[in-house]
Order: sequence, then C-alpha cells, then structure tokens
Amino acid sequence: MKLVIYGKGGIGKSTTTSNLAVAFARRKKSVLQIGCDPKHDSTFPIAHSLIPTATEVLAEKDFNYDEVDKDDIIFTGYEGIACVEAGGPAAGVGCAGYVVGETIGLLSDLGALTAYDIILFDVLGDVVCGGFSVPLQHADYAVIVATNDFDSLFAANRIAAAVAQKGKSYPVKFAGMIANRCSKKDLIDALSARLDSKTIGLIEENSSIRTSRLGGKTIFEAAESDPALVALTMPYIEIADYLLSNPAAQETLPLSDREVFSLLTEIESAAK
Ligand code: ADP
Ligand code: MG
Repeated sequence: MKLVIYGKGGIGKSTTTSNLAVAFARRKKSVLQIGCDPKHDSTFPIAHSLIPTATEVLAEKDFNYDEVDKDDIIFTGYEGIACVEAGGPAAGVGCAGYVVGETIGLLSDLGALTAYDIILFDVLGDVVCGGFSVPLQHADYAVIVATNDFDSLFAANRIAAAVAQKGKSYPVKFAGMIANRCSKKDLIDALSARLDSKTIGLIEENSSIRTSRLGGKTIFEAAESDPALVALTMPYIEIADYLLSNPAAQETLPLSDREVFSLLTEIESAAK
C-alpha cells in the first residue's frame, strides 16, 4: 500500500509519517519512508541522522542515474524501516518539485517501489504542483495532516482538490485528514464533512512528541525507556490499523477558496 502524506509546512507531517512508519513496522509490515520535502528531515527520527539525499548522491555522480545503487540512497533505520530523502536544489535555484519527480523515477527504476508492504511519501503540500503531485500517481491513498486552524485547512482543501483531480486518471483515493497538534477539531470535522470525507485520527499537542522528534526519535522509540509515553503511540497505531483495513474512500468534493473561507469564518464566529 502506498500512502502520500500531505499538509502545510510545519504542520507535523514528518513527525506523523515517522510515527506511522513505526506503527506499520510493529504490525510486521516492511516499510519505506520517502521524504519529499527539500527540508530533508522526514526520516531523521527513523534514521537517527540526516541521511544523504538522492539529489546529493546524484550530484556526486554527475547525474549519471545508471551509477546509482539502492544502497547509495536507501538507508535502514529503526525497526528496519527503509529511508530515502529526495532533498532539494540549492536555495534560489532549480525546482524542488522536479527533484521529487526524479527521485521517485530513480526509485522506480531501482525496483524499490514494489519491494515493500507499505511506502509512505512525506510531501510538502502548500502547493501541489508539478513534481509534488508525482507521488499521487503511485499512491493508493492520500492523507492530509491538518490542525484546527484556517491556514492549514485552506491548504488541506487545495490538496484535496489536487487528489480529486489526479483521481480521475490514477487509482489514488483520499483517505481523510489527521488532526495534529490540537485538542479541538471542530473546523477540521466541518471541512471533512463538506469534502464527504472524515477525520481519521486525532493527535494532541504534546511536548514529548516534539522533544522526541528533535532528539531524532519517534515516540515509539522514546517510549522504550519511558513507559509513560506508550499511551502517545496509540493514536498512530489506530490510524495505521484503519489504513490497513483498506478503507473505502468517497469521491471528494473540494470547495472553492471562497467557500472554505466562508465555511471556516462562519464556524469561528458562531463559536464566539
Ligand atoms: P512538517 O513535516 O509538516 O514540516 P514536522 O513534523 O517537522 O512538520 O513538525 C513541526 C514541529 O512540530 C516539530 O518541532 C515537531 O516536533 C512538532 N510537532 C509535530 N507534531 C506534534 C505534536 N502532536 N505535538 C507536539 N509537537 C508536534
Ligand atoms: Mg517535514
């Protein structure tokens, strides 16, 4: 099963993706996590370091794709999870989306896209253009990480629109939104309902989740030495199990930018 995790920058995609990767591994699945954000820190909590990016490796080989082996770009981390980082061009030059498309093409040529039970693409989703939409061509499901605020849901609606568009030519389905870093999810639920979708999990804001990520660990690994943290792994397990059940996904009905604006402002003002 291939999953694309989208969401606005800084919303918690990589934290969520890494913890989901471990949840799948704990269910005895072989897992590949592909960081598709030029920030190239997606797999840091799994690999425990910033691994060389596919772009860096290709540059070392003067962009001779034939000279790249699996071992040059795929690194094994916690629980045997395989890690790849696409990387990005130097700031101000080149196109980060293009790099994502090239990395996925390279992994496909190396046979890596058919070698795992679960592949997670962790993709920046402020704008789903060009290369950033390539993972959708390979995916079974798209999932959006959002928090209960206007900016993240505005981005989420745009991502849902991109998924619906790709869904016309590819098998990808929208599985729903994961609410992250929030105690309330009324706005997320409202948008989910209007998209004919659902909120598939709620992960609260928790300082241990933040510090574990900064320390290069998932909450699962942190919980090995602090049993009080085990409860924090549960939402990730529940989301992974839900996705493993091959949920049916309804056709999404993305709203126009103006409709999202009115929906969210109406709810906010009704709550005051
Ligand atoms: P993204 O990949 O979307 O850019 P990150 O996963 O890097 O976002 O997360 C951004 C910041 O938010 C990090 O410092 C991370 O530790 C923190 N974070 C993510 N999820 C949570 C959470 N549920 N509780 C507390 N902090 C979180
Ligand atoms: Mg990230």
